[in-house]
Amino acid sequence: MPPKKDYYQLLGINRTAGEDEVRKAFRRLARQYHPDVNRDDGAEARFKEINEAYEVLSDPEKRRMYDQFGHVGPQGFDANMGGMGGFGRFGFEDIFETFFGMGATTTRRGPQRGADLRYDLHLTFEEAVFGAEKELEIPRLDTCDTCAGSGAEPGTTPSICPQCNGSGEVRRVQQSLFGQMINVVLCERCRGEGRVVTTPCQKCHGQGRVHTVRRLRVSIPPGVEDNTQIRLTGEGEAGPKGGRPGNLFVVVSVGQHRDFKRQGNDLIYELSINVAQAALGDEVSVPTVDGDQAKVRIPPGTQSGKKVRLKERGVPYLRGSGRGDMLVHVRVVVPTHLTEEQRSLLLQLAKSFGTPIAQADGRGFFDKVKDVFGVD
Ligand SMILES: [Zn+2]
Ligand SMILES: [Zn+2]
Repeated sequence: MPPKKDYYQLLGINRTAGEDEVRKAFRRLARQYHPDVNRDDGAEARFKEINEAYEVLSDPEKRRMYDQFGHVGPQGFDANMGGMGGFGRFGFEDIFETFFGMGATTTRRGPQRGADLRYDLHLTFEEAVFGAEKELEIPRLDTCDTCAGSGAEPGTTPSICPQCNGSGEVRRVQQSLFGQMINVVLCERCRGEGRVVTTPCQKCHGQGRVHTVRRLRVSIPPGVEDNTQIRLTGEGEAGPKGGRPGNLFVVVSVGQHRDFKRQGNDLIYELSINVAQAALGDEVSVPTVDGDQAKVRIPPGTQSGKKVRLKERGVPYLRGSGRGDMLVHVRVVVPTHLTEEQRSLLLQLAKSFGTPIAQADGRGFFDKVKDVFGVD
């Protein structure tokens, strides 16, 4: 699938555009690209894109999610994430209003869905590598158990909305250039539900929801990375009036490790060796993320920058089995302080290389001058 276009760009508005601007931009473009009007190739596809953009940007909750997470939505482990595609209900209503000005039957909207919640979870480096069980405490709005979310005191029933007589819709007749138009709009009194609560539940004061703290045990799978988002479906806020709950997004941040750096599923370890080890070869022990030691063979003549790969000593793959590797980056360190013995051995070595050192004691002319004058 080609990458999706930015919703704001599609509507030709900037990110701070208000609701009104969003609606106006959408109507202007919809008139231009509606398949009934525009027969050009690609007009329909364009129209769908515009419609989708409008569906998201006209809904404060969806817009907030889009601003935060972008197109794909949070990267979750459960399979039902998916983008929001297709024609939006809101978009269609607007189109009908715009083009036909009448006859648009307002579908009765079900109870609103609850808000999504975000929880920031910090993990140590090792927890991210090997997975962890975490207990989360999430303050949220839950469905009131006294009234089961209806908002009505138990034993009472909501009565039929006097404004719409229970239909949830109100018809408005308007005169226009094209004659009489009938607009069907949602009843404001009952918000399309057709019923109103007359005796509010005492526990939730008619809201249908109460503040609680939810405790959740979450299994963090091995191999998560910094910024991974885990979606827990239905663990967000309860919807008002028994509406579906939102989702909970657990956003993972991962701490640093003293010895290792992470590169995808590989771990990088910096190993310093001295010139003798580099020239003669050696076998050295290095720590691993598993907590034990591994042997690394340094072949004779190893140069600085050499990489040694230890298979399957890295981070487990989040999906599927197996794990990445550990990469040992070898750095040859030239000594900065020498004992007398080391100095004479190196001078001997230099001589055998055929490069006798010019200043036999390794100090320059100016150092000697300083000695003479006693300056530092
Ligand atoms: Zn209640
Ligand atoms: Zn009503």
